[in-house]
Amino acid sequence: MKLILATNNLHKIHEIQAILCDRFEEILSLKEAGIFHETVEDGETFLENARKKADEIAAIAGCPALADDSGLSVDALCGAPGIYSARFAGEHGNDAANNALLLRKLEKEENRKAHYTCAVVIAYPDGTHVEAEGYWHGEILRAPRGVSGFGYDPLFKPDGEIRSVAEMTAEEKNKVSHRAVALAELYRKIAK
Ligand code: IMP
Repeated sequence: MKLILATNNLHKIHEIQAILCDRFEEILSLKEAGIFHETVEDGETFLENARKKADEIAAIAGCPALADDSGLSVDALCGAPGIYSARFAGEHGNDAANNALLLRKLEKEENRKAHYTCAVVIAYPDGTHVEAEGYWHGEILRAPRGVSGFGYDPLFKPDGEIRSVAEMTAEEKNKVSHRAVALAELYRKIAK
């Protein structure tokens, strides 16, 4: 069976292909499948957004589609930025502005606890779903450290680590991240 990934993000595509390659005959990005579609992400949870993206692509493609949605939730900010992580400071995907705003909001805050969440959903054309969620717990540093990764990685130090995620290699991150945990759980569910 063919699987379409509801993303053109190469980092995600390689990670998902590596994990799910023995469950599907072919795993294609949106671009490779010739699909040009933007989903309006207006859900209230990571799962709702991922489900909506996967449903729309499965309907267009007529074959199973996988979508993910992820973000950072900070305890002292009551879970913000959460589903608004990509556009916390206003402009979608402006990592520098998002990180600067996060540091400002936590300036006088002692409780630095936070976690990443990743929701992954495979939608099948018959309307059924397989879903999984992964978390990565840690804390927000007082200044950015490291240059690898993306998003909030320079400010996020996982529990049990002395480094920020941006100081880890991609291989190290991909073994333990929220996305890795969610994909491993999804794999277990579809492997049955
Ligand atoms: P998306 O699920 O790829 O749309 O990610 C939403 C936003 O959450 C990103 O733009 C980042 O700000 C944040 N985010 C999600 N996963 C990560 C991660 O692994 N590292 C850093 N930031 C992340």
